[in-house]
Amino acid sequence: MSTPELVTVTIDGRQVQVPKGMGLVEAAAAAGIEIPVFCYEPRLGPAVGACRMCLVEIEGMPKLQTGCSTPVADGMVVHTAQSSEQAARGQSATMEFLLLNHPLDCPVCDKGGECALQDLSFRYGQGKTRMTFHKRSLEKPVPISPTIALDRERCILCYRCTRFSQEVAEDEELTAVNRGALSMISTFENEPYRGPFSGNVTELCPVGALTSTQYRFKARPWEYEQAASVCGLCPVGCNVTVQSREGKVQRVLSRNHPEVDRGWLCDKGRFSYPHLYSEERIVTPRRRGARALEELDWEQALEELAGMVERASGGVVLALSGSETLELAYALAKIVRQGAGSDRVVLPEQTSDALDPFRVPIAALAEAEEIVVFEDCPVLDRAPLLELWLKQARRNGAQVTRIGPSGDIQRAHGEAALACRELAEKGNALGKRLRAAERVILLWSGGGSAGGTHLAALALTLGLNEKKGSGALLLPASPNARGVAEAWAAAGDEDRQPKQIGLLIVSGDEAASDPQVRQLAEHARATVALTLFAGDSGEWADLVLPATSYLEREGTMRNLEGRLQRLRGATGSPVRSELSWLVELAVRLGVALPGSEAALFAELSAQALDGISLSALGERAPLLPHGEARTFEIPEAEEPPILLGGPLELIRYRALFSGPEVEHVPELAFQRPATEIEISPEDADRRGIADGSDVVVRSNGTRVTLRARINAALLPGMVRAAATHTSELARGVEVSRP
Ligand code: SF4
Ligand code: SF4
Repeated sequence: MSTPELVTVTIDGRQVQVPKGMGLVEAAAAAGIEIPVFCYEPRLGPAVGACRMCLVEIEGMPKLQTGCSTPVADGMVVHTAQSSEQAARGQSATMEFLLLNHPLDCPVCDKGGECALQDLSFRYGQGKTRMTFHKRSLEKPVPISPTIALDRERCILCYRCTRFSQEVAEDEELTAVNRGALSMISTFENEPYRGPFSGNVTELCPVGALTSTQYRFKARPWEYEQAASVCGLCPVGCNVTVQSREGKVQRVLSRNHPEVDRGWLCDKGRFSYPHLYSEERIVTPRRRGARALEELDWEQALEELAGMVERASGGVVLALSGSETLELAYALAKIVRQGAGSDRVVLPEQTSDALDPFRVPIAALAEAEEIVVFEDCPVLDRAPLLELWLKQARRNGAQVTRIGPSGDIQRAHGEAALACRELAEKGNALGKRLRAAERVILLWSGGGSAGGTHLAALALTLGLNEKKGSGALLLPASPNARGVAEAWAAAGDEDRQPKQIGLLIVSGDEAASDPQVRQLAEHARATVALTLFAGDSGEWADLVLPATSYLEREGTMRNLEGRLQRLRGATGSPVRSELSWLVELAVRLGVALPGSEAALFAELSAQALDGISLSALGERAPLLPHGEARTFEIPEAEEPPILLGGPLELIRYRALFSGPEVEHVPELAFQRPATEIEISPEDADRRGIADGSDVVVRSNGTRVTLRARINAALLPGMVRAAATHTSELARGVEVSRP
C-alpha cells in the first residue's frame, strides 16, 4: 500500500500534518482540538453534515463550513468555535435550534449522564432559552420493536440510525418520514424493526431517542460496575462491556475491537442477558427422586458426584459443549483424565490446527478482493457479525461468491468438497480469479470440514499463505470448539477408552440437546449434567448441577480466527462458580487443581499454549503469530447425489435466535427463526410445491408443517431448516403438500 500524501493545515493556530482528504474533525483531533459533533460517525460511511454542530470558519470561505464533511487541503487555515466568534455564534445557534423542540427531560431520560446532547449543550449551549411557546409533544415512547423504544420528541435527526440500517446492516428497516419540522424516524409501515443487528442503533443514537426496552429506567450510568469481557454466544467473540448494578447485569454494550467486531454486536449478544435471571434457571443442585428432580445442598451434591465417579471405576465419559472457557474445560478434563482415570470425551466438533497458517483478522474481509463462502449453515446463524463484514467487503468492491448449501461434506460427496477440487483446478473460472487476486479469503460455514483440512488444502493450493491479507477461516458451530479440544488434550496423554459408561458428565445445555450425547445417556449407568436450564437433561440426568453463563465466567476462549480472548465475569451470580466446587471435588479425587482461573490458565498455557501469559492477551487481544503452512491433499470428492424421489436429505442448522439464552428472553421471541424449510426448485416442482405454501415434512412417524421456501442454491435432494423446528425429524425426510 502506498504512503498517503500529507498536507499541512493550521487549526486554531496549531499546525498539523495529516493525510490529504482527511475530514477537518479528524484533523483537528490530530492537533488535540475538539470539534463537537452529533451525526459524525466514521463507521457509518461518508460524513453527511446533518446536525451542523461542527461548524468552523475557514479562511477564504465566505460562510461557515461543516468540519465533518470538509476535507483538508494544503495550507488551509481553520478557526473552530474556540478561536472564531463567527463559528461560536453558528454553533450556539445550532444548539439553540436543536433544543427548540427537545423536551429537556434529562432527569427521566435513560441517556442522562451519557448523552452527547446533554454534554454539548452544557458546554456550548446558552444556558437559558428564548422560547416561550409550547414545545411539540408526541406520543412517547413508540415501541419500534419489542427490544427498542423510540421517543421522537428527543430525536435531533442526526440520521445515524437510518444510516446504520441502510448502509451497514443493509436491512432498510429504518427511514425518515415527512419533511422539514415534521420529519421523524420510523420503521416502514410501522412494522417492528426486525433485524439481527437492530440493537446497534440504541448505542449509536447520540440522545435518548432510541433506547433499549430492557434497560429503560433500570439505572444511571454512574451506578454501574463494568466488566470488559467477550460475548460467548458464537465463535466471533465480540468484545463487550457488561454493566451491572447491585450484582445484576443491566446491559451489554459493544467494546470496539477493530479487528473483530468494529464496535457492532448482534441482538443475541446484546439482548439475551436477561436469561441469567429467568425463573426457570437452575440455581441449586438437584437429584432424581422417586418422581421428579429434588433439590439438595452442595455438600450432598459433591458427595453424590464423588460417589458416582468412584462407582464408575474408570468408565467416565465427558461431553463438552464448546461453550466452556478453556479453564473450565481443562478443569473438567483433569477431573476425568486424572481423577477418574478415563480418556473418553465427546467434543462438540472436529477441530484441527491445519488452518493456523492461514489465519487472518476478521477485519481483513473488508480489504479482500475475492471472498468465497462455503455455506452449508447460513453465516448469519453461525457467526452473525461476519455478515456485516461481508457486506462491508462488498461495498468496498470485493466479489463475494457463496457456494452451497450442500449437505454434510465429511462424507466427501458434497458440492463444497467438489468446489474445492474444481477451484483448485486451473480451468475453473472462479479458480482463475482466485489465483489472480492479491487478497483472497475463504470462509467455511458448515459441517464436515474435517476441522478445516479441506479448506486448508484449498488455501495451500491457491498459495494464500504467501499472499498478504489472504487467508482462510473456519466458522465452528460452537463458540470455543478449538479451545475446549486444546484443554482436553492438555489434561492428559493416555488413551484409556472405557468399554462401559459408568458415568456420563454432560457439560452445558448444548451438549445435553445433542442427539449423540442423549444416546450415550441412555447407555450410561449414571449421568450428571451441568446446565443453565434443566431442559433436555432434566428428563434423564440423575444429578443436575447449576452452571454459570458466559457472562458470569472468568477465563479465556479461542474464537474463529484463533484469537485467545479473556472473559471477565460480571459481578454477582445466583449460581456458585464451577471452579469453586470442582476444586473441592478434585481434592476428594486426589487431583491437583489450581484454585483460580488465572492459575489454571498458567498451567494450561505452559503445556499447550506456548507459555503465553494472560497479560499478553490484554483488553483487546491481538492475533498471535502462527506456524508454517503444511502440505495437504485435496480430499477426494464424489459427485453430489441427485436424488430423484425417495427421502430428501435434511440439513439442520442452529438458528441464531435459538438456544436456552434466547428462549428464556420473551423480548427476543419475535426474532425466532421462521417456521420454514428450504427446498430446491427441482424438488419443489416434482412435488407441486409453490414458494410460501405450507408443506408437511415427515420421517419415522413424526410430521411437522412448515412453509416452503424455494432456494435455487440448494442441490436437488437436499432440504434445509432450522433445528428448532426439526429436532424430532430424522435425516431422511419426505416433503409433500398437506
Ligand atoms: S433517533 Fe437518534 S440516531 Fe436516529 S436520527 Fe434521531 S437522534 Fe439520530
Ligand atoms: S456476533 Fe456472536 S459474539 Fe458477536 S454479539 Fe453476536 S453472538 Fe455474540
